[in-house]
Amino acid sequence: MTGPPAATPEPPDQLIFLGTAGGRMSVAKQLRASGGFWAVLGGTRIHVDPGPGALVHCHSRGLRLDPVTLDAIVLTHRHLDHSGDVNAMIEAMTEGGKKRRGLVLAPEDAYEGDPVILRYVREYVAATGLLTEGGAHQVGAIRIETPLKLRHSAETYGLRLVGPHLTVAMIACTGYFPELETAYRGDVLVLNVVFYPRRTDTHLCLEDCERLIAAIRPRLAILTHFGLTMVRAKPWELADRVSQATGIRTLAARDHQRLDLTAALSRG
Ligand SMILES: [Zn+2]
Ligand SMILES: [Zn+2]
Repeated sequence: MTGPPAATPEPPDQLIFLGTAGGRMSVAKQLRASGGFWAVLGGTRIHVDPGPGALVHCHSRGLRLDPVTLDAIVLTHRHLDHSGDVNAMIEAMTEGGKKRRGLVLAPEDAYEGDPVILRYVREYVAATGLLTEGGAHQVGAIRIETPLKLRHSAETYGLRLVGPHLTVAMIACTGYFPELETAYRGDVLVLNVVFYPRRTDTHLCLEDCERLIAAIRPRLAILTHFGLTMVRAKPWELADRVSQATGIRTLAARDHQRLDLTAALSRG
């Protein structure tokens, strides 16, 4: 007698994009979903930047992600497109506050003044921690490093997520500056690209991303956090152009995309 077919084991190293919108207009109009991404490395799961709709997208038919399986929630910064659902996600991660578990990491200004992380919700988690320049936190199999403070209109950090098999570097919202090229090295590089043409010195435009990819030379680059001008310019076509210009395989993330990193990197 044979039993039911064994479930396919979940890949230990994945990026799961709940949403790919960035910036106020793209999020307000929901031109793309917002909600950040889950990084799963060595089986440890962290949710980065749960923007508006993150909880709904977790439970969507296409994703079916269970927040109770999260090990940590990380905010690169306090802006709404990164933090809109942080309290809802904390409550979901802790089974409505009944199970004290999980870690929350954010810059200091997410906890103070006009805090985006509500005080009563902080009681639910096992621990809260601060992101600081040069700091690191170990969460299960993932070492979360914040090597360099970014140039943005709130206290903001990029991330290096060092897993047992590979490292995912993520450059969050920032203007370009050369130190980014040495601080955010990784096998996979995720870049928040809000603007197609250059607009400000507090966000990357496509040209900045191309320059960073060419300098960092990851095995795979992924563009996400698209503002209005990026969405209109067809990010998948722009990513192909960046691939050709840099020789580095570059993808434009899609809403609800699950990327098995081992498979994606072996394809390179
Ligand atoms: Zn943003
Ligand atoms: Zn921002």
